[in-house]
Amino acid sequence: MYKIATIGSHSALQIFKGAHDEGFKTIAICKKGSEKPYKMFNSADEIISLKSYKDFPKIQDKLIKENAIVIPHGSFVTYMGYEEVEKLKVDYYGNKKILKWESDRYLERQWLRNAGLKVPTLFKQPKDIDKPVIVKFMGAEGGKGYFLAKDEKDFNKKIKPYKLRKYILQEYIIGVPLFIHYFYSSLTNEIEIMGCDIRYESNVDSLGRISARDQLVFPKIDPSYVIVGNIPVVVRESFLPRLIDMGEKVVKASQKLAPPGLFGPFCLETVLTPEEEIFVFEISARIVAGTNPYVEGSPYTALKYNKPMSTGRRIAIELKNAIKGKKLGKVLG
Ligand code: AMP
Repeated sequence: MYKIATIGSHSALQIFKGAHDEGFKTIAICKKGSEKPYKMFNSADEIISLKSYKDFPKIQDKLIKENAIVIPHGSFVTYMGYEEVEKLKVDYYGNKKILKWESDRYLERQWLRNAGLKVPTLFKQPKDIDKPVIVKFMGAEGGKGYFLAKDEKDFNKKIKPYKLRKYILQEYIIGVPLFIHYFYSSLTNEIEIMGCDIRYESNVDSLGRISARDQLVFPKIDPSYVIVGNIPVVVRESFLPRLIDMGEKVVKASQKLAPPGLFGPFCLETVLTPEEEIFVFEISARIVAGTNPYVEGSPYTALKYNKPMSTGRRIAIELKNAIKGKKLGKVLG
């Protein structure tokens, strides 16, 4: 019997709940000191504690012996690095070859453009900045340290504390940031919209609570984008055909870049402007934490399924179908 394993963080509670709903046993790999939630919510049938996530490869043989299938999530890839994930020998759900394309901001952009999606302008050098930009550092650290700059001079002043870090200069799009969760089945070749969310970020989402006059009370107030949590959103129904189309295009483009392409859960991170343009500024090629409000399913999964369907449970169903149909090779990367 196969077991479902992942790192105890990010969306692990949801993944384990979905696994249990479909009859799998679960293994949580936790950093020492972070085990409590996985006990409290009856999530983990077994907990393996590590001093550091970097020690994950050391427990691989144990996982292999236990017939574990590892489910990647955001923290999994961030903590281990995509090159280490690529080297894993334990069964892994998803296409590992796609991780390189989401981990490098330039490759990611090439993928999104190949898919025909609208992306924000990228400026090569500070002197090229001719509209407001968001300065992002390489490596996902939850938006820590990002800042806005209006021109080269402004940039040079604000970059000082971060002098040695690699960054990109991306056009800042004014609109509603919307995160769209998809699932693409490599067994049925069908795409589903699982839900949407808006992130709540500190401090940018609290600035609106202080009037401009009172903001001036603070000597220095720069927006930052440190994610705190996720809020469910149901989009205007007339947007749905475009959102479905975008998901299909991204999958199709990935099949050329990294065969057999993207499958399983993924997310397009977008900004929707008042002109109803949709700019995609990032793609996550695995489950995102924005699916966590939907442990009991989203309005979209409620329409499609007659039972509560989270993204975690959808993954477990995919694995169950693959095992039943002797097609595990089609879902393991
Ligand atoms: P990221 O690390 O790329 O996911 O970005 C963190 C946050 O910054 C997002 O959740 C958005 O709130 C904001 N953001 C990122 N890129 C843009 C952009 N091009 N225009 C406007 N806001 C953005």
